Amino acid sequence: MSENIKGKVVVITGASSGLGEATARLLSAEGATVVLAARRADRIKGLADELEARGGKALAVVTDVTDRQQMKALVDKAVATYGQIDVLINNAGVMPLSPLERLKVDEWDQMIDVNVKGVLYGIAAALPYMKEQKSGHIINVSSVAGHKLFGGSAVYSATKFAVRALSEGLRQEMTPYNVRTTIISPGAVKTELLEHISEQDVQKTTQDHVAQVGVPAETFARMVAFAVNEPEEVGVNEILFRPTAQE
Ligand code: NDP
Repeated sequence: MSENIKGKVVVITGASSGLGEATARLLSAEGATVVLAARRADRIKGLADELEARGGKALAVVTDVTDRQQMKALVDKAVATYGQIDVLINNAGVMPLSPLERLKVDEWDQMIDVNVKGVLYGIAAALPYMKEQKSGHIINVSSVAGHKLFGGSAVYSATKFAVRALSEGLRQEMTPYNVRTTIISPGAVKTELLEHISEQDVQKTTQDHVAQVGVPAETFARMVAFAVNEPEEVGVNEILFRPTAQE
């Protein structure tokens, strides 16, 4: 069923929890070789060991996506180890929501660094290989918040709108090189994402909402698998999904 996933070398950022971890598990089960990136070494090494014990091929590379050299080293390591990079999933992200008037400027910087610059550094690291290979697939994770705004989401939404814009630019520029692009915009999914919201009132409202309507991380992983598994001549350019119960 998933013949076009088997044997692909897939680099996943933010693989230490939530959507990235679930995606690594599913793609590995479907026969992909997965390269797991995040800052928490214990998490990604444990996951790589687990996937290998099940007969998969997995490599953990401790990476901070806000560091351009580390992102380059991650992709270089994937290619040095496995000979190619077929898919890059720029999934790492943070969402410390807050109203602008509370001036959480350090958190604005962090969101821009991880959610936008991290994605750009991933693109910068992978494109030279993909152009040379004349094949590749870059999947960038946006959000429903990349389509609309809600309480405290101004800066987070700005970063996720940016992800959509740069992904579409990438799609247009990559047509001569046979490089596919996919934007995935999830609605509420139950992960650790809300744990880092520092404003207590915003955190509580958001946690209550996600506890009520959120879907499991495997939902996202299935969307990734669908986009990767399509024939190479088909680019699944954007997937937007929400829990049925989400407004
Ligand atoms: P989690 O908090 O569970 O996962 C976030 C991941 O990002 C972790 O693996 C974390 O790893 C990684 N990360 C954060 N900062 C960095 C960094 N500087 N360098 C490398 N890795 C980093 O949340 P989700 O799985 O929910 O989030 C994944 C993506 O999905 C994000 O882009 C998020 O914006 C998006 N999203 C999530 C939705 C949801 O409802 N859950 C909805 C819409 C979009 P570590 O801390 O180990 O570095």
